[in-house]
Amino acid sequence: MITMKFGGTSVGDAQRLCEVAAIVRSHLSRRPVVVASAMSGVTDLLLGTARLALERKKDEGLRNTEELRRKHLEIVMALVEPGDARDRLVREQGELIDKLETLFRGVHLLGELSPRSLDAIASFGELLSCMQIAAILEARGIPARFVDARPLIRTDSSYGEAAVDIAVSNDRIRAALLPLVESGVVPVVTGFVASNAEEITTTLGRSGSDYTASIVGAALGCSEIWIWTDVDGVMTADPRVVEGASPLGEISYREAAEMSYFGAKVIHPKAMQPAIEHGTPIRIKNTFNPSHPGTLISSAGNSSAKIVKNVTSIDKLGLVAVEGSGLMGAPGVIARLFAALARVGVNVMMISQASSEHNVCLIIPEQDCRRAVEELRAELDPELARKAVEAVRVRDSVSIIAVVGEGMRGVPGIAARTFTAAARADINVIAIAQGSSELNISFVVDQSEAHRAVRAIHDAFDLG
Ligand code: ADP
Ligand code: ASP
Ligand code: MG
Repeated sequence: MITMKFGGTSVGDAQRLCEVAAIVRSHLSRRPVVVASAMSGVTDLLLGTARLALERKKDEGLRNTEELRRKHLEIVMALVEPGDARDRLVREQGELIDKLETLFRGVHLLGELSPRSLDAIASFGELLSCMQIAAILEARGIPARFVDARPLIRTDSSYGEAAVDIAVSNDRIRAALLPLVESGVVPVVTGFVASNAEEITTTLGRSGSDYTASIVGAALGCSEIWIWTDVDGVMTADPRVVEGASPLGEISYREAAEMSYFGAKVIHPKAMQPAIEHGTPIRIKNTFNPSHPGTLISSAGNSSAKIVKNVTSIDKLGLVAVEGSGLMGAPGVIARLFAALARVGVNVMMISQASSEHNVCLIIPEQDCRRAVEELRAELDPELARKAVEAVRVRDSVSIIAVVGEGMRGVPGIAARTFTAAARADINVIAIAQGSSELNISFVVDQSEAHRAVRAIHDAFDLG
């Protein structure tokens, strides 16, 4: 058995969907389970329309829902033959969009849009998409069944990016999907969506369908999890930033997790967890170029390959610096900083401490900076009052650049090469961090210089 996940661009138009059907057909002997995303652009459209409803911009909102209706109807008309199945699909999709309009009207009337409502609204993209994929497969003679993942994947109530209860989910996934696969049916499971103990819709976070695929693939004991997307695999850098970026043949789970955590959008960082636990290899493949072998992600990776495999950047971050001579040798200060940030739900992406300068830098998402600084100032109030801490400063619009590769462990000179390349490109390095795992070197630059830094390092390590 294999799990195949198709991302937004892979299900984004009629031609792609024909390719999806062809791919599924050519692997039927491997008993595929399909997981799919919303059509590309649909999740953004749904979340955007919810915000328009909140701002009471009725005409623009109505235009968006009409676009959604048209987009899906066009696909169904093009790919499903006239008949009962098509009529049923058109009716069911129409009912879903009507329901969605009721939700938008609710937001408009109440003037309120909670994270819980956003999840409910966002879930419609995957429901609409997977319903039509199942019908398209059926129309091509491939037995298939639409499966709503909400009753199968149990999460907590952290709307927007809920935490999965793996034990409960595994049992439900097996109970629902194994009988289908055993009877020769291809389940088409909605990515991204889940529900909490009260059966209220939650989501796994943006790009969360990769995570769904990994949960499903691991629960079913699949031999591989294939992530179908629009590039030939995990590349040496974001191909939109570096023209000469090239696909990597094999990487380890740890490398993939590190790359995706630091901005390689091609796979969600959480997708690695279930795969690691069950030792299931993940393969990244291109629906636009299906014969390309893609990237294999496994525990082995490829130790004979280059020392540095990939350079990524992650934008829209802020740097919070806590400065003061009283920080030096004061036990527990870092713990207090982390505890304060945890209280206001702020995730620290990177930390860098220069004890000689009495300075701790925390890199966090830019949108959280205000909240973070307020909480840190409150926490450090006694130290600020007695000048043990001089200031809690913030700098917006910074990026983390990460240089990733397992081969750098124990090899001297990687940091020197990285920073020489940055210096040659006239890039100012604001802060630096390297984990003791020696899997990556990460540093902070002004966002305006991030892409230039990625290109300079990509060149310096001959990654193209
Ligand atoms: P999907 O809709 O299939 O989930 P995504 O847009 O989420 O696709 O991810 C694929 C995109 O990730 C690629 O089109 C590419 O632009 C971007 N990307 C960023 N960094 C990398 C990288 N290192 N390797 C491959 N793709 C990357
Ligand atoms: N449709 C969701 C998103 O756009 C989930 C996904 O595509 O993985 O974020
Ligand atoms: Mg994605």
